[in-house]
Parts: sequence; structure tokens; C-alpha cells
Amino acid sequence: MPTRRDFLASTVAAAALSSAQRHHAPVALAPPLTRPVVLASANGLRGVKVAYDRIVGGADCLDAIISGVNIQELDAEDQSVGLGGLPNAEGVVQLDASCMHGPSKRAGSVGAIEGIATPSLVAKAVMDYTDHIMLVGEGAKRFALAMGFKEQNLLTEKTRQDWLRWKARLNKDDAWLDHNDDVAIKFTTGTINMNAVDARGDISSVTTTSGMAWKIPGRIGDSPVIGAGQYCDNTVGAAGSTGRGEANIKVCGAFLTVEFMRQGLAPEVAVLKTLERLVAMTEPRLLRPDGRPNFDIQFYALAKDGRYAAGTLYDGAQFAVCDDRGARLEKCVSLYPRLPR
Ligand code: ASP
Repeated sequence: MPTRRDFLASTVAAAALSSAQRHHAPVALAPPLTRPVVLASANGLRGVKVAYDRIVGGADCLDAIISGVNIQELDAEDQSVGLGGLPNAEGVVQLDASCMHGPSKRAGSVGAIEGIATPSLVAKAVMDYTDHIMLVGEGAKRFALAMGFKEQNLLTEKTRQDWLRWKARLNKDDAWLDHNDDVAIKFTTGTINMNAVDARGDISSVTTTSGMAWKIPGRIGDSPVIGAGQYCDNTVGAAGSTGRGEANIKVCGAFLTVEFMRQGLAPEVAVLKTLERLVAMTEPRLLRPDGRPNFDIQFYALAKDGRYAAGTLYDGAQFAVCDDRGARLEKCVSLYPRLPR
């Protein structure tokens, strides 16, 4: 019997890549593989292990992956999610999150919520305790407080300084003096997506983020949009995304990826096809002279039978996965070679 690793390396991945180049002929389904499997963006390396252990211990898939993403949400050093996430243009941290629970066919979401470090749990509370799916802004916060969540200042000293640096450097002629240093403003995006399938084949997904740094107040990205930031169908699989949300929303990328898997495509092919659709839907102002997008984005796909993959526009990104071989990072398939630095 080939191992999962042998199979993925030699058969599905190769078939996926070549079929993507051949405009995506369907790839034969892999034989049954290991379950449970937890799949996440690379920043979920600690979280996939926590989620996996909880699932093996009998926890519900969604509860397990929310525990996984809570690690990043509560980590003040992670500037892309929850506490310590980079703020909007006015220096206010506004968070987005959504989740889906496959077995019960339910979803919950919050957008632009302030002062609550774990929006993934608030999204789940919207799902569990209301007849709605999405709450945003002040209403989402008031709901969270009513549900017993504690308000806290999410702007850390580090992120406040980064915001001031960004603000001061916007215009050298305005009244804000530049910081007397050359600390780079390193990144402007970041998110954690996590998906899991348990031994029975039940599936869930969650995505949580502080969104695009320095965004216009009130901006909501793809993460809280069901079908864009994450999506799960208990009969097929789950998918999620990190990277430029504005590009993802236009193709409903998580939904589309699950739909490609429903058509029988392997996760590797599904994510590549979604990336191709996204490129086709990219407006000219965001294309480089070679016709490729001037941003990057990733899609993560987990099939009900435990197959998984992640895809990125530009080679170099990794994703996190945990199964019976433990937690590890693996390489995303990509549409294009790595961008020169
Ligand atoms: N997708 C997130 C957003 O657009 C950001 C990211 O993942 O980098 O809000």
C-alpha cells in the first residue's frame, strides 16, 4: 500500500499540476486517506496540533479548530489577528471572523468588531445563539458583551508605534513628524484559516483576521464573508483563504474551491482553478506588466476523505497540517514562480 505521502507526492500533486496546466482535466479520486486532518494557513502550525488533539479526544470539529485559532488571536506578537493585530487608518483594531459547522449546516460571522480579542468565538456565538449569520461593527460588539465576552484594548504598544510610523510616513509635508528610525513597515495583511475533518467525516472551517492593515475604518474583508474567507459543506469538504480579501470576495473563493471538489477535482486542482478564476477577475490596475497580479493570495482545501492542499499565486508559501504524522508545514502549489525579491 502506498503511504499518504508517497501517494500525494507521486500521483495527485503531479496530476494536479499537469492538469492545471492542461486546463484542469479532472483528477481521479485518491484512495481513502487518514482522518482526522486539520489544515491551516502557515501561522496555524501550533493551532493545528491543538485542534487535532482535541478532535482525537472527542471534541467537536468546530470547537477544536476555534481553539486552534484562539492561540493566534490571543498572541499579542501576531500582528495579523486578534490582540496585537494591526489597526485601521485611525489606529483602531477592527477584527473580522467567520465559521461554519458542517454537520449542523450552520454559519456565523462578525465584521469590523472592536475590543474583543477572539472574534472567532463571537462568530460561533452568532451561530449558536441567534437566528442571524452576520453581525458587524457596534452591534457585533454589543452582542459580544451581552454574551459575556470581555472588552479589552487590542492595540499593543508595538502596533501603536507601527501605526504612528505608517501615519507619519504618509506625507512628509504634514504635521506628523517621521519616526527617527528606519524600521520598515513590514506587512499589511495576515489572517488565520483553519479547517478540519474528523474520523467520522464531519467537517468545519473558521477564519479570523485583523484584515488589511491601515484599512479605511469600516472596511470588511473576505474573512467574515461566508463563501469567501471560509466555507464548508459536510458532504464535500472545506476551504478558506488568506491574502488580499478584495480579490477573493469577487470569486467567492472558498465556496468555489468546495464546488470544484464537489465536481470531483482533487484539492490541488481545486485551489489552482480558484486562483486562475481570481486572476481572470483581477482589474487591470492590479496587474503587473507581465499580466500577473501585484498581490498574493492563498487558498486551503480539505476534502471529506482527508485529502488536502493549499495553493498560492506566487511560489514560496507554506501551509500547516496535522494528521497521524503530526503537525508540520508543507509547500503550497502555485500558479507562478516565486517573485524576485
Ligand atoms: N484576507 C484578509 C483580508 O483581506 C487579509 C489577509 O489574509 O492577509 O482581510
